[in-house]
Amino acid sequence: MLRVDDLVVRYGRSPALRGVSFRVDEGQVVSLVGPNGAGKTTSLKAIVGLVAPASGSITVDGESVLGRRPEALLRRGLSLVPEGRHIFGTLTVEENLRLGGTARKDKRALRADVREFMERFPALGRRQNSPAGKLSGGEQQQLAIARALIAKPRLLMLDEPSLGLAPLIVEQIFDIVAQLRAEGGTVLLVEQNAAKAVALADVSYVLQSGEVVMSGTADEILASDDIVDSYFGGR
Ligand code: ATP
Repeated sequence: MLRVDDLVVRYGRSPALRGVSFRVDEGQVVSLVGPNGAGKTTSLKAIVGLVAPASGSITVDGESVLGRRPEALLRRGLSLVPEGRHIFGTLTVEENLRLGGTARKDKRALRADVREFMERFPALGRRQNSPAGKLSGGEQQQLAIARALIAKPRLLMLDEPSLGLAPLIVEQIFDIVAQLRAEGGTVLLVEQNAAKAVALADVSYVLQSGEVVMSGTADEILASDDIVDSYFGGR
Protein backbone atom coordinates (compact mmCIF):
# COMPACT_ATOMS: atom_id res chain seq x y z
CA MET A 1 0.00 0.00 0.00
CA LEU A 2 2.74 2.44 1.06
CA ARG A 3 6.25 2.43 -0.36
CA VAL A 4 9.04 4.74 0.67
CA ASP A 5 12.15 4.51 -1.47
CA ASP A 6 15.54 6.06 -0.90
CA LEU A 7 14.08 9.01 0.96
CA VAL A 8 16.41 11.89 1.76
CA VAL A 9 15.26 14.76 4.00
CA ARG A 10 17.43 17.63 5.14
CA TYR A 11 16.74 20.30 7.71
CA GLY A 12 18.92 23.08 6.39
CA ARG A 13 22.21 21.35 5.73
CA SER A 14 21.90 18.55 8.24
CA PRO A 15 20.48 15.32 6.85
CA ALA A 16 17.70 13.76 8.93
CA LEU A 17 17.08 10.88 6.47
CA ARG A 18 19.89 9.58 4.28
CA GLY A 19 18.13 7.24 1.89
CA VAL A 20 15.44 5.45 3.89
CA SER A 21 13.33 2.73 2.27
CA PHE A 22 10.47 0.74 3.76
CA ARG A 23 7.06 -0.56 2.81
CA VAL A 24 3.74 -1.26 4.46
CA ASP A 25 1.41 -3.83 2.91
CA GLU A 26 -2.31 -3.99 3.51
CA GLY A 27 -3.20 -5.69 6.81
CA GLN A 28 0.28 -5.35 8.26
CA VAL A 29 1.58 -3.67 11.36
CA VAL A 30 4.97 -2.22 10.51
CA SER A 31 7.15 -0.54 13.11
CA LEU A 32 9.92 2.01 12.80
CA VAL A 33 12.13 1.86 15.87
CA GLY A 34 15.42 3.43 16.88
CA PRO A 35 16.88 5.98 19.26
CA ASN A 36 16.02 9.64 19.63
CA GLY A 37 16.83 11.61 16.53
CA ALA A 38 17.09 8.55 14.27
CA GLY A 39 14.58 10.01 11.82
CA LYS A 40 11.38 8.20 12.74
CA THR A 41 9.17 11.27 13.10
CA THR A 42 10.71 12.84 10.01
CA SER A 43 9.74 9.73 8.01
CA LEU A 44 6.10 10.15 9.07
CA LYS A 45 6.16 13.88 8.38
CA ALA A 46 7.48 13.26 4.89
CA ILE A 47 4.72 10.73 4.19
CA VAL A 48 1.95 13.15 5.15
CA GLY A 49 3.53 16.09 3.35
CA LEU A 50 4.66 18.07 6.39
CA VAL A 51 8.29 18.11 5.25
CA ALA A 52 9.51 18.13 1.65
CA PRO A 53 12.07 15.43 0.81
CA ALA A 54 15.23 16.41 -1.07
CA SER A 55 14.98 13.18 -3.06
CA GLY A 56 13.42 9.74 -3.06
CA SER A 57 9.88 8.59 -3.64
CA ILE A 58 6.75 7.93 -1.62
CA THR A 59 3.91 6.06 -3.28
CA VAL A 60 0.48 4.97 -2.12
CA ASP A 61 -1.02 2.17 -4.21
CA GLY A 62 1.73 2.78 -6.75
CA GLU A 63 0.97 6.48 -7.17
CA SER A 64 3.36 9.21 -6.03
CA VAL A 65 2.08 11.34 -3.16
CA LEU A 66 5.06 13.67 -3.05
CA GLY A 67 4.00 17.28 -2.80
CA ARG A 68 0.46 16.41 -1.74
CA ARG A 69 -1.03 18.33 1.15
CA PRO A 70 -1.90 16.57 4.42
CA GLU A 71 -5.66 16.96 3.72
CA ALA A 72 -5.27 15.26 0.35
CA LEU A 73 -3.48 12.36 2.01
CA LEU A 74 -6.23 12.07 4.57
CA ARG A 75 -8.71 11.75 1.71
CA ARG A 76 -6.56 8.91 0.37
CA GLY A 77 -6.91 7.20 3.73
CA LEU A 78 -3.64 8.07 5.46
CA SER A 79 -4.14 9.27 9.02
CA LEU A 80 -1.40 10.35 11.42
CA VAL A 81 -1.68 10.52 15.20
CA PRO A 82 1.21 12.85 15.98
CA GLU A 83 3.45 12.67 19.02
CA GLY A 84 1.92 14.73 21.81
CA ARG A 85 -1.59 13.78 20.69
CA HIS A 86 -2.86 17.26 19.78
CA ILE A 87 -6.36 16.80 21.04
CA PHE A 88 -8.55 19.85 21.64
CA GLY A 89 -8.41 20.28 25.41
CA THR A 90 -11.35 22.63 25.82
CA LEU A 91 -13.69 20.56 23.64
CA THR A 92 -15.43 17.54 25.09
CA VAL A 93 -14.42 13.98 24.35
CA GLU A 94 -17.42 13.55 22.08
CA GLU A 95 -16.68 16.79 20.21
CA ASN A 96 -13.09 15.67 19.64
CA LEU A 97 -14.35 12.37 18.23
CA ARG A 98 -16.82 14.11 15.92
CA LEU A 99 -14.02 16.34 14.61
CA GLY A 100 -12.21 13.20 13.47
CA GLY A 101 -15.05 12.66 11.02
CA THR A 102 -15.33 16.13 9.51
CA ALA A 103 -14.15 14.85 6.12
CA ARG A 104 -16.82 12.15 6.06
CA LYS A 105 -20.00 12.70 4.09
CA ASP A 106 -22.08 9.98 5.78
CA LYS A 107 -23.06 12.07 8.80
CA ARG A 108 -25.63 9.60 10.12
CA ALA A 109 -23.15 6.73 10.04
CA LEU A 110 -20.61 9.06 11.62
CA ARG A 111 -22.89 9.65 14.61
CA ALA A 112 -23.31 5.90 15.00
CA ASP A 113 -19.54 5.43 14.82
CA VAL A 114 -18.93 8.07 17.48
CA ARG A 115 -21.31 6.13 19.76
CA GLU A 116 -19.62 2.86 18.88
CA PHE A 117 -16.17 4.22 19.66
CA MET A 118 -17.33 5.40 23.04
CA GLU A 119 -18.40 1.83 23.77
CA ARG A 120 -15.23 0.38 22.36
CA PHE A 121 -13.11 2.72 24.49
CA PRO A 122 -15.08 2.72 27.74
CA ALA A 123 -12.76 5.26 29.37
CA LEU A 124 -13.89 7.71 26.67
CA GLY A 125 -17.55 6.79 26.99
CA ARG A 126 -17.49 7.51 30.72
CA ARG A 127 -15.99 10.96 30.02
CA GLN A 128 -18.08 11.74 26.95
CA ASN A 129 -19.03 15.25 28.12
CA SER A 130 -15.80 16.14 29.92
CA PRO A 131 -13.29 18.54 28.41
CA ALA A 132 -10.63 16.39 26.78
CA GLY A 133 -7.93 18.39 28.58
CA LYS A 134 -9.11 16.84 31.84
CA LEU A 135 -8.36 13.27 30.70
CA SER A 136 -5.26 11.39 31.84
CA GLY A 137 -2.35 10.98 29.41
CA GLY A 138 -3.41 7.43 28.53
CA GLU A 139 -7.02 8.49 27.96
CA GLN A 140 -5.88 11.37 25.77
CA GLN A 141 -3.81 8.93 23.69
CA GLN A 142 -6.85 6.67 23.35
CA LEU A 143 -8.89 9.69 22.28
CA ALA A 144 -6.28 10.69 19.69
CA ILE A 145 -6.28 7.16 18.25
CA ALA A 146 -10.08 6.92 18.30
CA ARG A 147 -10.37 10.31 16.61
CA ALA A 148 -8.04 9.15 13.84
CA LEU A 149 -9.99 5.90 13.44
CA ILE A 150 -13.29 7.77 13.08
CA ALA A 151 -12.00 9.03 9.73
CA LYS A 152 -11.87 5.33 8.66
CA PRO A 153 -8.25 5.47 7.54
CA ARG A 154 -6.76 2.72 5.39
CA LEU A 155 -3.40 3.34 7.02
CA LEU A 156 -3.11 4.55 10.59
CA MET A 157 0.25 6.07 11.51
CA LEU A 158 1.07 6.39 15.19
CA ASP A 159 4.01 8.49 16.38
CA GLU A 160 5.28 7.33 19.77
CA PRO A 161 1.86 6.44 21.18
CA SER A 162 3.34 5.06 24.41
CA LEU A 163 5.52 8.07 25.17
CA GLY A 164 5.27 9.22 28.79
CA LEU A 165 2.63 6.69 29.78
CA ALA A 166 2.73 4.34 32.79
CA PRO A 167 3.56 0.68 31.97
CA LEU A 168 0.00 -0.56 32.46
CA ILE A 169 -1.34 2.12 30.13
CA VAL A 170 1.37 1.34 27.59
CA GLU A 171 0.00 -2.23 27.55
CA GLN A 172 -3.48 -0.87 26.80
CA ILE A 173 -2.18 1.19 23.89
CA PHE A 174 -0.34 -1.81 22.42
CA ASP A 175 -3.49 -3.89 22.92
CA ILE A 176 -5.40 -1.37 20.79
CA VAL A 177 -2.87 -1.78 17.99
CA ALA A 178 -3.03 -5.58 18.30
CA GLN A 179 -6.82 -5.41 18.07
CA LEU A 180 -6.64 -3.22 14.97
CA ARG A 181 -4.39 -5.77 13.33
CA ALA A 182 -6.76 -8.59 14.27
CA GLU A 183 -9.50 -6.64 12.50
CA GLY A 184 -7.37 -6.41 9.35
CA GLY A 185 -6.23 -2.82 9.88
CA THR A 186 -2.94 -1.47 8.57
CA VAL A 187 -0.68 0.40 10.97
CA LEU A 188 2.67 2.15 10.76
CA LEU A 189 3.93 2.40 14.32
CA VAL A 190 6.82 4.64 15.36
CA GLU A 191 8.13 3.71 18.78
CA GLN A 192 11.08 4.19 21.09
CA ASN A 193 9.79 1.19 22.99
CA ALA A 194 11.58 -1.04 20.51
CA ALA A 195 11.10 -4.39 22.23
CA LYS A 196 7.33 -4.09 22.40
CA ALA A 197 6.92 -2.60 18.95
CA VAL A 198 9.07 -5.25 17.27
CA ALA A 199 7.29 -8.05 19.12
CA LEU A 200 3.92 -6.80 17.91
CA ALA A 201 4.80 -5.80 14.35
CA ASP A 202 4.84 -8.10 11.32
CA VAL A 203 7.91 -6.28 10.02
CA SER A 204 10.13 -3.71 11.70
CA TYR A 205 12.78 -1.30 10.51
CA VAL A 206 15.55 -0.17 12.85
CA LEU A 207 16.63 3.39 12.13
CA GLN A 208 19.87 4.98 13.24
CA SER A 209 21.13 8.42 12.21
CA GLY A 210 18.75 8.61 9.27
CA GLU A 211 19.43 5.14 7.89
CA VAL A 212 17.76 1.75 8.11
CA VAL A 213 20.35 -0.47 9.79
CA MET A 214 18.19 -3.59 9.84
CA SER A 215 14.72 -4.77 8.93
CA GLY A 216 12.74 -7.95 9.33
CA THR A 217 10.41 -9.92 11.56
CA ALA A 218 10.85 -10.00 15.33
CA ASP A 219 12.74 -13.31 15.07
CA GLU A 220 15.09 -11.93 12.45
CA ILE A 221 15.79 -8.73 14.34
CA LEU A 222 16.21 -10.38 17.71
CA ALA A 223 18.61 -12.93 16.21
CA SER A 224 21.18 -10.16 15.73
CA ASP A 225 23.36 -9.70 18.84
CA ASP A 226 24.58 -6.31 17.60
CA ILE A 227 21.07 -4.99 17.20
CA VAL A 228 19.88 -6.40 20.52
CA ASP A 229 22.89 -4.91 22.32
CA SER A 230 22.55 -1.52 20.67
CA TYR A 231 18.79 -0.97 20.66
CA PHE A 232 17.14 -3.44 23.03
CA GLY A 233 19.38 -3.09 26.08
CA GLY A 234 21.17 -6.43 25.54
CA ARG A 235 19.98 -9.98 26.17
P1 ATP B 1 12.37 11.50 18.32
O1 ATP B 1 12.00 10.24 18.96
O2 ATP B 1 13.22 12.38 19.17
O3 ATP B 1 11.22 12.22 17.67
P2 ATP B 1 13.10 10.64 15.71
O4 ATP B 1 13.74 9.34 15.40
O5 ATP B 1 11.67 10.77 15.45
O6 ATP B 1 13.39 11.04 17.18
P3 ATP B 1 13.42 12.97 14.11
O7 ATP B 1 12.56 13.80 14.98
O8 ATP B 1 12.89 12.52 12.83
O9 ATP B 1 13.93 11.71 14.91
O10 ATP B 1 14.79 13.75 13.89
C1 ATP B 1 15.80 13.34 12.99
C2 ATP B 1 16.92 14.38 12.99
O11 ATP B 1 16.46 15.59 12.45
C3 ATP B 1 17.46 14.71 14.36
O12 ATP B 1 18.85 14.90 14.25
C4 ATP B 1 16.77 15.99 14.72
O13 ATP B 1 17.56 16.76 15.58
C5 ATP B 1 16.62 16.67 13.38
N1 ATP B 1 15.39 17.50 13.30
C6 ATP B 1 14.13 17.08 13.50
N2 ATP B 1 13.24 18.08 13.31
C7 ATP B 1 13.99 19.17 12.97
C8 ATP B 1 13.67 20.53 12.64
N3 ATP B 1 12.42 20.97 12.58
N4 ATP B 1 14.71 21.36 12.35
C9 ATP B 1 15.99 20.92 12.37
N5 ATP B 1 16.36 19.66 12.67
C10 ATP B 1 15.37 18.80 12.97
